[in-house]
Amino acid sequence: MIEDLIKPNIKALKAYTIDAPPCSIRLDANESPYGFPLGALKIAINRYPDPEAAALRKVLAGKWGVEPECVLHGNGSDELIYYLLTAVGGPVLIPAPTFSMYRIIADSLGENTIMVALDGQFDLDMEAMLAAIGRHNPKLIFLSRPNNPTGNSFTCEKVLEVIENAGGLVIVDEAYQPFSPRGDSFIDLLPRYRNLLVMRTLSKIGLAALRLGFIVGDKAIIGAINKVRLPYNVNSLSQAAALGILKDEKSIDACIVNIKDERDRLFMELSKLKAIKPYSSDANFILFKLQNNASVTADALYKKLIADDILIKKLAGGGASGAPGPLDNCFRVTVGTPKENAAFIMSMKKITGGSLK
Ligand SMILES: *Cc1c(COP(=O)(O)O)cnc(C)c1O
Repeated sequence: MIEDLIKPNIKALKAYTIDAPPCSIRLDANESPYGFPLGALKIAINRYPDPEAAALRKVLAGKWGVEPECVLHGNGSDELIYYLLTAVGGPVLIPAPTFSMYRIIADSLGENTIMVALDGQFDLDMEAMLAAIGRHNPKLIFLSRPNNPTGNSFTCEKVLEVIENAGGLVIVDEAYQPFSPRGDSFIDLLPRYRNLLVMRTLSKIGLAALRLGFIVGDKAIIGAINKVRLPYNVNSLSQAAALGILKDEKSIDACIVNIKDERDRLFMELSKLKAIKPYSSDANFILFKLQNNASVTADALYKKLIADDILIKKLAGGGASGAPGPLDNCFRVTVGTPKENAAFIMSMKKITGGSLK
């Protein structure tokens, strides 16, 4: 059989599909509701892109206060996760619940993933993390901070303890760092720890279509991972568009401030609904759980929102070892425009039976 040519670990995978019914209000994918004008891009369409993305890396390195040699560019951070797993391999240690791509990519490369449950506050369970490090000596540890889909930032001291105790690389994935009220980035700590890498993306701040992600870290490590990068992984249109848009720092920052304000307002509004419990967030989304005594099921809530033309992300499981898990009956809603958020709140009130107070 021709299908038998496929590796067993690939055969066992489920294709990653994104279930997105066509709604006008899309609050499911942690995108920014605000785009930027592209302007006229001057591109030699017959030529390959700059393989080093030199101009773009220079601009970002400047922003982050590092040398351009410390920055590696990817076709989204997803591609960089792939490169890390290709160049370094497993075992991989991740908390649960967290961003699903770490596990999905490890699985596709046949690498072993060890999952350690977060504690009741969705913070790192240090006893369990240190035990797993001691037992499995993971080569890669991915920590999303703020964490997707829980929205909280792991305690800084705990992350430092992981970095100090890890024999492998620790990747602090700062996809949502621009929305963090504390504004504390682990990039500042890079000089202190050679085994620390920080991952960034432009996807969540309004440039998701461009597919641009970056790893920042030690030159030698970045150079080694760079060896598995495909030569022209970031296309010319994305490089040119990002360079143009990044010049207008004011507009980007204004959108981020707006999203943070809206997030805090959305959290307050969600806190008033008796059927749900929202979790406070440092990101551009909010996790909330449907209460056991709610008059509506999670399935019904999801479908009724879609009937109101609003799409959010329905979650389930999220434990370190199968179902049931802490994300059962949970949803993740992305912060939209004030108008979109108001429509979402109105719909939620109607569907769940209204306010507490
Ligand atoms: C969305 C997200 C990313 C972004 O991936 P891109 O491939 O850059 O779009 C990375 N990490 C986390 C935790 C995310 O939620």
